[in-house]
Amino acid sequence: MHLSAPYDPNNIFAKILRGEMPCLKVYEDAVCLAFLDIFPQAPGHTLVIPKHAATNILTLPTEAIGPYMASVQKVAHAVQKAFQAEGLTIFQFNGAAGGQTVFHLHVHIIPRMDGVSLKGHGQAGKADEDSLKTHQAAIMAAF
Ligand code: AMP
Repeated sequence: MHLSAPYDPNNIFAKILRGEMPCLKVYEDAVCLAFLDIFPQAPGHTLVIPKHAATNILTLPTEAIGPYMASVQKVAHAVQKAFQAEGLTIFQFNGAAGGQTVFHLHVHIIPRMDGVSLKGHGQAGKADEDSLKTHQAAIMAAF
């Protein structure tokens, strides 16, 4: 998908936003929805998506960037607290050439511990439902 490709309203995150697909929601406000990545690169891997239909960082209106990033920071605080993380890896891909696979803008937040390496992007298996639900509850309780 090229950076300037039009927004596809049938992408999986658009369906999650509309409630047509389930997600393990950890947070929602006026500008964003945050939920667990079901193929986590580490336990607690969380995605924060804007409610605005933006394909990537280049297509989110400039005035929406600040409120969205404020929400990303709020979720990052909760993820850090929930996992007592020693570090946080936060990343965001744009366009297929940039590593993006779902074409609704999203920021990844991953809690990190010293000496524990990250699984590769797109190389992690599906996490089991019980551990995802435990992590969901822990993050929700940390706001
Ligand atoms: P990206 O490659 O940056 O576009 O990341 C897309 C992310 O979405 C990957 O980390 C996937 O594991 C994750 N993902 C794909 N489908 C779902 C889903 N239904 N629920 C939660 N996460 C998903």
